[in-house]
Amino acid sequence: MKRRSRTVSGTAPQGPRLRPTLDGIPTYKPGKPAGADAYKLSSNENPYDPLPGVLEAAVKAAGSFNRYPDMGVSELTAELARRFDVPVEHIATGTGSVGVAQSLVLSTAGPGDEVIFAWRSFEAYPIITQVAGATPVPVPLTAGGDHDLDAMLAAVTERTRLIFVCNPNNPTGNVIHRAELERFLDAVPAEVLVVVDEAYIEFIRDPEVPNGIDLYRDRPNVCVLRTFSKAYGLAGLRVGFAVAHEPVANALRKTAVPFGVTQIAQDAAVASLRAEEALMVRVDALVEERARVVAGLRAQGWEIPDSQANFVWLGLGERSQEFAAACAAAGVIVRPFPEGVRISIGEAEGNTIFLSVAEAFRKTIDG
Ligand SMILES: *Cc1c(COP(=O)(O)O)cnc(C)c1O
Repeated sequence: MKRRSRTVSGTAPQGPRLRPTLDGIPTYKPGKPAGADAYKLSSNENPYDPLPGVLEAAVKAAGSFNRYPDMGVSELTAELARRFDVPVEHIATGTGSVGVAQSLVLSTAGPGDEVIFAWRSFEAYPIITQVAGATPVPVPLTAGGDHDLDAMLAAVTERTRLIFVCNPNNPTGNVIHRAELERFLDAVPAEVLVVVDEAYIEFIRDPEVPNGIDLYRDRPNVCVLRTFSKAYGLAGLRVGFAVAHEPVANALRKTAVPFGVTQIAQDAAVASLRAEEALMVRVDALVEERARVVAGLRAQGWEIPDSQANFVWLGLGERSQEFAAACAAAGVIVRPFPEGVRISIGEAEGNTIFLSVAEAFRKTIDG
């Protein structure tokens, strides 16, 4: 067989053809790693070192990493099913909840289909939507940083396949209350999947916020997304899961990367669930720190949303980069967006440095 010519004649040599949908996706720019002496308040991680028992479980699993992990993730799945009182078939795990979210999009949407989410919200939503070739439909938050659920409903078309609801919202920290969310879920067409992303549920203290698992039980089109990355402190191990009715959960098992959740991650997640009491003491301490930071900011004159997550939000707009630079100069790394700055609640010393930067910066705003 005659080989095709090496270049298309008359044009410059070209590389492999990539899917045009990727052009709309920003190239990932790794954040500046926090120097050894800086506090990293930029990724909403748990600032505590791993619990001893969890670390032991991970180290033990590391001893057999020449073997593939348990593909069925059976022990973790059984533990989760028991804890939430759901069938094991309703649990689908993945490489972080971002991995599960990507499988959810791949399972429901392709070219021509639409995925709705609030904006600004979790930055992965538009990316995983475009990777699937589907069309992102961002719906602006209200001025106060809330999901505009009426506008999201109005954005539903016959092409809508999936809606992400982030509760509490990353990066603003705002929550959606039970009555509001139930009204929304009841109005969404039954063939549209609603994914309630509860990455920060353990930090919620507002009793009006629903637990998504109560909402999914009698709604076949509702799925709950959870992660071990935040409150449980396993961000580096990459394990998250969905609770969904069987057709959706089965689709997630088909679209997930095979053997994506390592045995180290599986065993550490099981150990974390068993060590939950000790972990929740740490979560309580972070919630107390959040209260201290929020009170401190308000005393300085900042108007901020009532965060129910492990971060706070300063809606600084075009001064966001400047604020992040001031924080970095003082030894804390925060996360600027075009609309504002998200600051994770970390070690008390780091939070205190952030508060002092915020106080000085505040004075440059009102004069
Ligand atoms: C951090 C975060 C996740 C979790 O990501 P992992 O992949 O589980 O580490 C999911 N959703 C939101 C909104 C988040 O902020």
